[in-house]
Amino acid sequence: MEKPDNNSTEKDERAETDAWIKEHEDSLDYPDVPVSRDYRIDDSRLSPETQKALAERKAQLEAERKAQSAKESGISDSAIILKATQFAALKHRDQRRKDHAASPYIIHPVTVANNLTQAGVTDPEVIAAALLHDTLEDTQTTPDELVEAFGKHVASMVQELTDDKDLPKQERKRLQVEHAPHLSPGAALVKICDKIANITDVTHSPPPDWSNERRMAYLDWAASVVAGCKVGNKHLKQQFENVLASGREGIEND
Ligand code: NDP
Ligand code: ZN
Repeated sequence: MEKPDNNSTEKDERAETDAWIKEHEDSLDYPDVPVSRDYRIDDSRLSPETQKALAERKAQLEAERKAQSAKESGISDSAIILKATQFAALKHRDQRRKDHAASPYIIHPVTVANNLTQAGVTDPEVIAAALLHDTLEDTQTTPDELVEAFGKHVASMVQELTDDKDLPKQERKRLQVEHAPHLSPGAALVKICDKIANITDVTHSPPPDWSNERRMAYLDWAASVVAGCKVGNKHLKQQFENVLASGREGIEND
């Protein structure tokens, strides 16, 4: 019997993996993001061997990217998260949320970051982007400051999550729906967690002057933004659906 050629099997798997990566890399909307960061990829159609090879390749790319990011920003995983927490706390220190109690603003970005980690996201740069997601839009922070403190990748995710405040409110809301399918993988994860946090607020601690119709309209709009977000994290999409359903029920009964 002919001895199996392990070498050539390995080569075939590597070639299949490489071809698959190439195909998906081309479909990425965000060229700076290596394929290892594409949480949208559904690789279940590949053979177990290829999935294993792909997982190893992803891990290798991820390690390279992390090393590069750490080199750029000069900080470790937990340090970047704490640095982002402190940065956001200082930037939002005089701001309040719109709820009846006028809660300190910082509770919101910390909640968004916590939603991410609860959904199993561990990438410290995505968690940092969640903590910082409202700094450009709602404070005097500049993109250069973010690049300097957290590196280009975190800064670009925060920019993706920033509305153009020169545009009218309704146009900004329309653009969020239009842009959702084009968000990078990390920004899409933060976007969903932001909407989960805001729907929770609109359900349990809404701005006091909002009618139930307005609260429902907010939920509908948030759902249309999230529908366009491409993420492979099924847990997060399910969590969003649960929060949305209980939000609708809660507002209906208010
Ligand atoms: P806003 O954009 O004015 O407020 C919602 C945003 O405020 C959230 O996305 C959140 O953003 C932030 N926020 C802070 N505190 C809270 C809180 N406690 N609960 C919820 N959100 C909070 O509201 P809309 O998006 O509804 O309105 C946009 C425009 O549309 C407005 O100009 C409004 O006049 C109009 N509109 C009016 C309606 C009506 O019935 N009168 C209905 C719908 C729209 P972040 O995460 O960035 O902090
Ligand atoms: Zn937010």
